[in-house]
Amino acid sequence: MSDTPLIGVLALQGDVREHLIALASADAVARPVRRPEELAEVDGLVIPGGESTTMSKLAVLFGMMEPLRERVRAGMPVYGTCAGMIMLAEKILDPRSGQETVGGIDMIVRRNAFGRQNESFEAAVEVAGIDGGPVEGVFIRAPWVESVGAEAEVIAEHGGHIVAVRQRNVLATSFHPELTGDHRVHALFVDMVRAVN
Ligand code: GLN
Repeated sequence: MSDTPLIGVLALQGDVREHLIALASADAVARPVRRPEELAEVDGLVIPGGESTTMSKLAVLFGMMEPLRERVRAGMPVYGTCAGMIMLAEKILDPRSGQETVGGIDMIVRRNAFGRQNESFEAAVEVAGIDGGPVEGVFIRAPWVESVGAEAEVIAEHGGHIVAVRQRNVLATSFHPELTGDHRVHALFVDMVRAVN
């Protein structure tokens, strides 16, 4: 692989376009991924924010759930924001019935933990491994992480709650760096993809 990794954005539902732009600004080639054949071509994947229950249903419907699990197990780097974080959890608290996840991080995530749409907020968040000061965290009906297993590293907290976690090649944030124009979290992920390819 060249120094410019090819990174997919899971494009079943959610804020796909913003991630494509953020990844391109962080020196990756980015493209939407909807089908297993497209997933097979990328070096890494972003799972966007949106609605995790809908995304989960569509992933099953499009035959993507198993291929996603297989590639994550095989070590493909993945980054999930908000609903994407929920998709990467091994366990969700108060899931909708039948809601499945891809998994990848040994963590328990609480959906809508910070409140509903009208309780969305922004906050400066210090993220371990990211230099240059805190990132602006945009939280929209955001989850938080209730607990993590021994393998998972907590890289950010807000208000006493875990809001960013990394486990080997898998990264997850409760907030949406793709909405801010500050692409340092995407740059960190692009570096993770470069490191394994
Ligand atoms: N609350 C949404 C969910 O459960 C996530 C919201 C978001 O991605 N901004 O999927």
